[in-house]
Amino acid sequence: MDRSPVTTDPFDDDKLKEECGIFGILGHKDAGALAALGLHALQHRGQEAAGIIAFDGRQFHTHRAVGLVGDNFGDQKVIAALKGDTAIGHVRYSTSGGTIMRNIQPLFAEFEFGGFGLAHNGNLTNAETLRRSLIKRGSIFQSTSDTEVIVHMMAQAQGDVTTRLIAALNQVEGAYSLTCIAKDKIIAVRDPRGVRPLVLGKLDGSWVVTSETCALDIIGADYVRDLEAGEMVVIDRNGIRSMKPFRPEVKRFCVFEYIYFARPDSVTEGISVYEARKRIGAELSRESGLPADLVVPVPDSGVPAALGYAQESGIPFDLGIIRNHYVGRTFIEPSDQIRHLGVKLKHNANRAGLAGKRVILVDDSIVRGTTSKKIVEMVRQAGATEVHMRISSPPTKHSCFYGIDTPESSQLLASKNDVAAMARIIGVDSLAFISIDGLYRAMGEPGRDPKAPRFCDACFTGEYPTRLTDIEERGDNPVQASLLEIA
Ligand code: SF4
Repeated sequence: MDRSPVTTDPFDDDKLKEECGIFGILGHKDAGALAALGLHALQHRGQEAAGIIAFDGRQFHTHRAVGLVGDNFGDQKVIAALKGDTAIGHVRYSTSGGTIMRNIQPLFAEFEFGGFGLAHNGNLTNAETLRRSLIKRGSIFQSTSDTEVIVHMMAQAQGDVTTRLIAALNQVEGAYSLTCIAKDKIIAVRDPRGVRPLVLGKLDGSWVVTSETCALDIIGADYVRDLEAGEMVVIDRNGIRSMKPFRPEVKRFCVFEYIYFARPDSVTEGISVYEARKRIGAELSRESGLPADLVVPVPDSGVPAALGYAQESGIPFDLGIIRNHYVGRTFIEPSDQIRHLGVKLKHNANRAGLAGKRVILVDDSIVRGTTSKKIVEMVRQAGATEVHMRISSPPTKHSCFYGIDTPESSQLLASKNDVAAMARIIGVDSLAFISIDGLYRAMGEPGRDPKAPRFCDACFTGEYPTRLTDIEERGDNPVQASLLEIA
C-alpha cells in the first residue's frame, strides 16, 4: 500500500483504518461473482477502491474501480465480463490523494511465463529502499504502491512463477498476506510472522483463500484452516500444495484485528473476534470498573466490548448513541456547513435513555481524540450526569507500519498525553484503557511476555517485530531505539 496522509474530513471517524482485504478462488464456474461477494463481505477492510482479475483458460479479464464493491460490481455486465473459473480480488482503503487508478489492486504484469496478478494486504517496511535500488537497475514503476516492488523483483528472478515469487519475498520485510493469479493457478502467501490474516476455505470442491472467514460465510464456503505464518499454498487443477519457503520467525499476529479491524463475525486464528471483544470488555471492567447507571457502546465497533463490560459489571447495557449507517463520503461533498456538523452526521445521542444517568461509554480506541471529545459533549448535552470512558485497547502511541493507516505518531493523542491529560482533553469525568497485560489475559495468556509476546502490539508498545528499514534510512525514526529484533 502507499502511505498517504490521513484524511481530516468530517466523515473521518477518527479510527485507524485497515488498508486491504483479499480474496481468491480456483475451479468454480462463478469465480468472478463469488470474488465480488467475498470482497463485499470484506468491505470494512477498504472502502475506497476494489478490483478483480479473472482467468478463463486463455485470457485474463479485469475490472478495477474507485468506490464500493456494490457500486462497481453490482452490474451483471461487469460480472459477466469477468470470465473464467479462477479469480482474485482486492479492496483497499486510501485517502483521496492516494486513490489513483494505477494503485488499485490486484496489480497485473506480463512475464515470460504469462500474466500474473497480485493482491496484497499489509505493508512492506523496506519497499522504498528496494524501489530505489530497482529504479537504479532500470525498473520503471507504474504505481506508488509498495506492492509493485514484488512484481519487479520477480521480473529480475529466474524460474517459474512460484520460484520467482519466493525469490522476491525473500527480499522484503514487513507484513504481507497475498493472493496471486497466474493462468491456471492461484498462490496464497502469509509473511513469516503472520501479521495479517489469511484463511483457506472450500466451496463445492473449489479452494478459496481470503482475509477473513466472513468472506467464506457470504458465499457458503466451509472454513478449512488459517494459513500458517510463513506458509505458501499453490492451488491448481491437481489440488493444493503447501510449503514453508522462508526463514522461520516467531509468529506475531496483529492483536488490533481482534480489538477493531476484523469483522466481529469472523473467526481468526481459531478465536471468535466477537467473543474476544467481549472478553476484552469484561477484563476492562475488572481492571477499571466504577459505579454507574449505564454502559453505552460507541457504535458500532464498541458494542461487543461494551456487552462484555456490562455483563461482567452487572451495570445495564443500553444503546445511548445511535449510528447512522448511510453516511457515505462518496455521495456528499464536504461543505463548510457539513464540516461544522462533524460527528453528528454519524452519531446521535439517544436522549431518552441518557438523561439523569451516570454513563460509562465504551469504545475500542482513541486515535486523535476528535470524535471522542464530540461524542462526550453530545452525551452530556443529552443530560447525562457523569460521563466516563473505557477503552478496550491500550493507548495507541505509535504508528503502524504493517498495513494500517495511522496518523503520524505526533498526531496520536496518547503519544503526547498521559491518561489524566487525555481525560481533560476529551472532557470525561474519568478515562481508563485496558492494560497491555489485561489485553493479553483476555486473549488467553497470563499476561504479556516481554521476551516473547504472542502478538504484534507495536502501536501500543513501540516494539516492532520487524526492521523498519525505510524509516531507518530516512533517519527520522522516533521509534528506532525501541525496535525489537526477533531472532
Ligand atoms: S502495529 Fe498495531 S495495528 Fe499495526 S500490525 Fe501491529 S498491532 Fe496491528
